[in-house]
Amino acid sequence: MGYTDCRSDPCSPREFFPVNPFLLNLECSACSKVHSPRQLINLCPCGNPLLVRYDLPAVQASLPQKFQGSRPQTMWRYEELLPPGNSQARISLGEGGTPLLDAGGLASSLGLSRLWIKDESANPTGSFKARGLSAAVTMAKALGAEKLAIPSAGNAGGALAAYAARAGLQAHVFMPRDVPPANRIECEALGARVHLVDGLITDCGRLAAQQARANGWFDVATLKEPYRIEGKKTLGLELAEQLQWRLPDVIIYPTGGGTGLVGMWKAFQEMRQLGWLDSKQPRMVSVQADGCAPVVRAFEQGKPRCEPWSQASTLAAGLRVPRAIGDFLILEILRQSGGTAVAVTDREMLDEARTMGRSEGLFVCPEGGATLAALKKLIQSRFVRPSDEVVLFNTGSGLKYLHLFEA
Ligand SMILES: *Cc1c(COP(=O)(O)O)cnc(C)c1O
Repeated sequence: MGYTDCRSDPCSPREFFPVNPFLLNLECSACSKVHSPRQLINLCPCGNPLLVRYDLPAVQASLPQKFQGSRPQTMWRYEELLPPGNSQARISLGEGGTPLLDAGGLASSLGLSRLWIKDESANPTGSFKARGLSAAVTMAKALGAEKLAIPSAGNAGGALAAYAARAGLQAHVFMPRDVPPANRIECEALGARVHLVDGLITDCGRLAAQQARANGWFDVATLKEPYRIEGKKTLGLELAEQLQWRLPDVIIYPTGGGTGLVGMWKAFQEMRQLGWLDSKQPRMVSVQADGCAPVVRAFEQGKPRCEPWSQASTLAAGLRVPRAIGDFLILEILRQSGGTAVAVTDREMLDEARTMGRSEGLFVCPEGGATLAALKKLIQSRFVRPSDEVVLFNTGSGLKYLHLFEA
């Protein structure tokens, strides 16, 4: 199907806000219907996530040399592939530009030729959630939202609270009552209204959506608006640039709602269309907790979507997501890339988080520890071979989980 060019959309409500001139439209990930980017919008009316589409040939013509070093060392260096068309509009705390660390010590103890850790704990608010919410809050404010709502099992709430404060917007964060204390305290200190919910992230999501509808707040839940994934996409752009425009053989990513994985894959597709990458595709691996592993189960059963996981339980708050709205996208990517999905125990995550700390000097979150636990299993099952180049994603700082590390 062809695309509609929404850049000349005559009925846009906020025409004076400059959207990135390379941005064509918002396309439904399921039914392919397109929508204008000049409006506050959540899902496609068919109930599925919207993805931002760019005029990539035009980007390619304007940027023949890929990215040059003179640009800012934040995610905004990729501005042609991000939504706002005005750098003044950015709501930024310096997100992105995180280190890709050569984990040589770990690699040799595992018998691998190359192993890197992309350390997302270096982001504002201590997790990669900053990337998505910088992009989402930028667009929400530019398009006229005044109050924002989010369900959060952990780090997303703090990131929304920070960017909303920076933007002068009100933030409503819906968290499970048993959320790690650091996450709740962080939201409160940043001026957000915290709503504690008896239940899981899915219950928070339902309540946030309800309250948003009733009160005219804009719901920025994962994949329920089009721009968080654009911020997360910069994980993939940065990784490629840091590896001199090639990609590793295997990427291991701790998967909750899956925006990081879906965003990275979107970046790889866009870079390939721009001619910036060779043809090698990394095998994408989702790691989940064995107490909440809907993606692992659906992957193993060959299903296109996940069944909701009942009685979800794990200490890794970011992985306590019993059902993800973009589950079909995650599963498609794992299969298309020749990847897989692995479950690990909470004990393994914490043990391997300590291993990463002692070996590489990184105080990682349990979700980061989960990637090393998964890697060990994948070496054992020979999914990962000694010659494979592997990237682990440490998605956040261990400092938010002090209660778990107290011996
Ligand atoms: C949110 C979160 C995850 C899961 O990320 P998704 O992109 O939603 O799958 C993993 N780790 C941490 C620390 C998180 O905060």
